[in-house]
Amino acid sequence: MLSYEEIKKNIDVLESRIQAACDRSGRKRDEVTLIAVSKMNPIDAVLLANDCGLTVFGENKVQEMCGKMDETDRALEWHLIGHLQTNKVKYIVGRVAMIHSVDSVKLALEIEKESAKKNLIMPILLEMNVANEESKFGLSADELLDTVNQISGMKHIKLCGLMTVAPYTEDPESNRKYFKKLKDLSVDINSKNIDNVNMSVLSMGMTGDFEVAIEEGATHIRVGTGIFGARDYKI
Ligand SMILES: *Cc1c(COP(=O)(O)O)cnc(C)c1O
Repeated sequence: MLSYEEIKKNIDVLESRIQAACDRSGRKRDEVTLIAVSKMNPIDAVLLANDCGLTVFGENKVQEMCGKMDETDRALEWHLIGHLQTNKVKYIVGRVAMIHSVDSVKLALEIEKESAKKNLIMPILLEMNVANEESKFGLSADELLDTVNQISGMKHIKLCGLMTVAPYTEDPESNRKYFKKLKDLSVDINSKNIDNVNMSVLSMGMTGDFEVAIEEGATHIRVGTGIFGARDYKI
């Protein structure tokens, strides 16, 4: 785990790069939310990042996320960004600010059911597989409209936008076309003025490509390594 000083330095560097990307694309810094992806890092790392001023955290596994939530009473905002199984929905509805990874009507129905039970409205994003990678979760562009139409009728879900995990690459420019594609899809859906649907959120861009994502309209970037350092997959 990195020290406070190391995390602070990473965040400072990241902030100046986010600001520069906003400047280049004529956007305001407050149009972009930085989600600190703390997966595989302990709660102590989360608390250090919070000491540095970060308040929004992302996790890709339900159990790991809930574990960390239980380990602090600080008022942090949590986002579920990884694949979600229907049988785990009950553990996170009401605890997370947003679910980024909804990729089926079946999953949305389960979120609707659980949110109704808890009498709340759950903000979600639809995860899109814009690069059509076989190994990735997410809807294809062809499936989007029908899925949106079905979810728009769910009263305890607020569909807020789209999310994508672009291909891993050493060359961030190569992902620009996928970020453009996600933006185009959201503009397209917005133009249809579907009830209960407002595609204002675009969750795209990670440590390797967040600047290009900001230039293409990201409202939420998800950065892990760039804050907490390389993850140790051995442990
Ligand atoms: C791990 C992860 C990230 C962050 O990846 P980094 O390359 O470490 O910034 C972002 N989004 C999702 C869905 C992830 O699983």
